This record gives sequence, structure tokens and C-alpha cells, in this order.
Amino acid sequence: MSRVYNFSAGPAVLPEVVLEEAAAEMMDYNGTGMSVMEMSHRSSAFQEIIDTAEQDLRDLMGIPDNYKVLFLQGGASQQFAMIPMNLMQNRVADFIVTGQWAKKAYQEAQKYGKANKIASSEDKTFSYIPDCSDLPVSPDADYVYICENNTIYGTKYKELPNTKGKLLVADVSSCFLSEPVDVTKYGIIYGGVQKNIGPAGMVIVIIREDLIREDVLPGTPTMLTYKTHADAGSLYNTPNCYCIYICGKVFKWLKNMGGLTVMQQRNEEKAKILYDYLDSSSLFKGTVVKKDRSLMNVPFITGDKDMDAKFVKAAAEAGFVNLKGHRTVGGMRASIYNAMPREGVEKLVAFMKKFEEENA
Ligand SMILES: *Cc1c(COP(=O)(O)O)cnc(C)c1O
Repeated sequence: MSRVYNFSAGPAVLPEVVLEEAAAEMMDYNGTGMSVMEMSHRSSAFQEIIDTAEQDLRDLMGIPDNYKVLFLQGGASQQFAMIPMNLMQNRVADFIVTGQWAKKAYQEAQKYGKANKIASSEDKTFSYIPDCSDLPVSPDADYVYICENNTIYGTKYKELPNTKGKLLVADVSSCFLSEPVDVTKYGIIYGGVQKNIGPAGMVIVIIREDLIREDVLPGTPTMLTYKTHADAGSLYNTPNCYCIYICGKVFKWLKNMGGLTVMQQRNEEKAKILYDYLDSSSLFKGTVVKKDRSLMNVPFITGDKDMDAKFVKAAAEAGFVNLKGHRTVGGMRASIYNAMPREGVEKLVAFMKKFEEENA
């Protein structure tokens, strides 16, 4: 067996111990004589898996009792529609557009009401987070929407926007569980799990109970109504059972690592190794305003497309894979999620230094 260092933005690296455990339980989960993939979602064995996963997530994030945790399908993208369908009672919502994912959510919401772009960083290719201390929040806005960590551009809000009393809704797909979070500051926090938690095909939605309502927009499908899933404990229909099981294992892993405060410390140390090198390199440089740099997604360039391509190829040959930047921005991007070991980042930087010497 030979494992690479996988810097993919998603689906992404998972903790090896989690993969090993899943492999060991593949043929016989906990004496049931079957794989979790073969198991009824109505079985007591699966009920225990989903209940434990939810409780561990609640422990990790300190989720208050007046918030529900939903394990849903359709990925993060489905939430771009589900949020307005469930929350846009006034048919008005405000968006801070800091990248492609926020932009997609903003565009989708326009189908359901008036979506206002109250701030944007598109003027500088989304390389920074706008000042959000005094934005023109609409008086009748149902919510203010952000994408908290911009996976493609590598920026992160270091401070939440001042929503002037309006509900905050955040897509945290690529920073989920990377650091402690105050859930009470949000109406909804959600994220696709394939970035920093588990396999693809599921989104976790953490939603304040009073936002789970029956008076959703007319025509909202049953499957896209939060109440359907909240009332059924995410078992209205067959959920992504195997994904829930793997996410549950990752939650246990995070607890064993010491929880989100420890993860934040590790993530800061890891990111610093790479950013410090980028700041000192004469070949590579980061593309993001320093104060807004993400701990999870680190884009960088040489300034020469051919050199970028040469680097990506040489890196892959040396076992550092998926470093090519997003197809819309080019250059390179190293995604260094929770499961990327510090050693992976150290070795990548050593490789970059060597490449820089050889290509000076
Ligand atoms: C990847 C990503 C999405 C899209 O996720 P899907 O599960 O593929 O729909 C949305 N938002 C952010 C921030 C992402 O990184």
C-alpha cells in the first residue's frame, strides 16, 4: 500500500485511522454480520450510529438544545435553494459575495425573491473579505448570507459580519470543525461534509428551532422542507447511511484529538509553515490579502503558467497530489484540512524549496 499526500479541495483527505476502522468493519459491523452499507436505516444498529454521530457533533461544537442537527442529501448546493424556500418569508435576503459559492447561492435565491448583494470582493478576484462592520443591511431582509471560508479563493472571515440584528446564515463547508464556533451567532450553519469531515454526498445543517416552520414558500417540495427532516430525525427517507457512519468516526477522531480548540491550534501551526514559506519565497507567492487568509485552502502562484504546470506535475510525481488550482483561477492550491498531517505540509514545503532552488 502506498498513500499519497492528498491536497484536494474536496472530496478530500480523511484520517487514516478512520479508513482503517471502516475497512476492519467492512464485512461485519459490530457483530451484525453485515456492512453498514447493507443495513436498514430503521435498524437499532443504525439508529445508534446516527444518534452517536449527532451527540458527538453536539459535544464538539457545543450546539445548544434549541438547534436541530440535520443530515441531508443534495450536497451544499441544494441548500442554495432550500434556504430561501424555507426562510424567505418576506422574499428578501442580503448576500455578501466573496467567491463562487456565495455567488451561486446569491443567484439561486433570486428565483425566490429579492436577493441583494450588499458587499462583494469580486473587484479584486475575491482575494479579500470586505469590511462588514457597517453594511447596508435591508430592513426587511429575512437573513444575511455568507460563505465563511472560500474554498476556491482561500479567504476566511476572521470576524462575522455585523448583520444589524438580522439572522446570519453561513456556508461553512470548507471550514467545518476546523476551529471552535459560537453556534448561537447563526440562524443556520451548514456545510457539505466532503471537504473537512467525510465522504461526498451529504450536507449537515444546524438550524435554530424557531426557523423550522410550516409556512415555507408555496410549492416547496416535502423533501426540501426542513420540518420534514427535523420531525423525522433525518430519517424521513433513506439517508446517506454510510456517510453518516464515516462522519461519526471522524467526530470520534476529533474528540480523541482533543476537540476543536486543539484542532484550531494544529491548523494554525500547519498553515503557518506554508504561509511563512510563501512569504519568503522568490518563486511562489500567495494570492490572498494576509489578514483574510484561510487556514484550510492555500492558493499560490509562480506568476508563470508554464512554471505552475511544471510544479504541479513534479509535485504529483513526488507524491503530493491535487495541487492544481481551481479551473477558474489557475495556479496552485493546497487544501490542508484537519486530516492533513503536519508532516504532509512540512514535506510539501521542503519539496517546494527544492523546486525553487532547481528553477531559480
Ligand atoms: C464544495 C463547496 C460547495 C458545494 O458543495 P456540493 O456538496 O458539491 O454541493 C458549496 N460551498 C462551499 C463553500 C464549498 O466549498
